Amino acid sequence: MDEAKRIKNLPPYIFARIDKKIAEERAKGVDVISLGMGDPDLPTPNHIIERLNQAARKPANHRYPAPFAGTLEFRQAVADWYKGRFRVDLDAKTEVLALIGTKEGIAHINFCYIDPGDYALIPDPGYPVYASSVLLAGGIPYKMPLREENGFLPDLEAIPEEIARKAKLMFINYPNNPTGAVAEADFYRKVIAFAQTYDILVCHDAPYSEIAFDGYKPLSFLEFPGAKEVGVEFHSMSKTFNMTGWRIGWVAGNERAVEALARIKSNIDSGVFQAIQEASIEGLRGSMAFVRDHCKIYQERRDIVVDTLNSMGWQLEKPKAAIYIWPRVPKGYTSESFAALVIEKSGVVVTAGNAYGEYGEGYFRISLTIGTERLREALARIKENVGKMEF
Ligand SMILES: *Cc1c(COP(=O)(O)O)cnc(C)c1O
Repeated sequence: MDEAKRIKNLPPYIFARIDKKIAEERAKGVDVISLGMGDPDLPTPNHIIERLNQAARKPANHRYPAPFAGTLEFRQAVADWYKGRFRVDLDAKTEVLALIGTKEGIAHINFCYIDPGDYALIPDPGYPVYASSVLLAGGIPYKMPLREENGFLPDLEAIPEEIARKAKLMFINYPNNPTGAVAEADFYRKVIAFAQTYDILVCHDAPYSEIAFDGYKPLSFLEFPGAKEVGVEFHSMSKTFNMTGWRIGWVAGNERAVEALARIKSNIDSGVFQAIQEASIEGLRGSMAFVRDHCKIYQERRDIVVDTLNSMGWQLEKPKAAIYIWPRVPKGYTSESFAALVIEKSGVVVTAGNAYGEYGEGYFRISLTIGTERLREALARIKENVGKMEF
């Protein structure tokens, strides 16, 4: 049976490919250490798990979630968390929607705004879901290169006027995956002005807002005047609370966009298991002190990676946030050939930068989501077996 055109040209999800490579190396007997996927290794905080235990026993929670958009209690907990963390006012009823993870919402928002042939502005390198979901909706992803000399921020002035006019959506993501870059107020203000000029919905993907180092505090896009008129922010329990497996996130901001996404979703899914929403309320309303401890752990890992690579010839600066290191590949290598060298010589998996888009070529990504001692071993192996590098 012939597949639809829609999926024929869709590449397999990048991490599915990497998993296959790891399985091959393991089959050869190699003790593979994967620094590939950004999936927190630390456990979900205990108070959240305890609340799930209780909530799972309530028969009312075994039924379809009501409403599909998320319980008002969950949405209010999100709104209150935003107020406490960012001084942002959100109406829980109309400006917050529960998602089955951010990934789900990012994919579906395209179906709300993209007709065949419409453009969406996407960061490159970037989270692969932006481009693939634009394609699934029949749209055309227009790549905004994130260049190192520009602090890995897109240059909005470089977007051709006729593309900007045809664009319906813009995805941005800070603290950034894969580059670890952060954005400041002037950037968000420029994005808002751009979106007003060209009538574009801004989708800020912000799952790493709580993971930052050296005292740095990332901003929310919604903090800035006019943001809610032109955009939404996607957020998630996944990275802040180590809950990637639980599948819960939210979108907040522009009321019409939130309503449109709720409408599409109500025809596709039936919401998030209410017990998981209850447990998430516990997380959002409870003490956030554990986040500081987790950031300390990531910061130590960041320092291990950056210090080791710098001792091998790199000249990396330490990222202020997120859970990734994004170094250039040494002279004479492509992203793929360097990632292949690292796994062959040291049994360590790093992700080739071109997996995140064409402008990721020339880089590779190391994720900090692996036990600190194992990470230390991985870096020691790389240092010993790959050796000094030239740039
Ligand atoms: C991890 C990640 C997500 C996915 O979050 P979920 O809520 O688990 O779906 C979204 N965007 C970026 C940039 C991520 O790195």
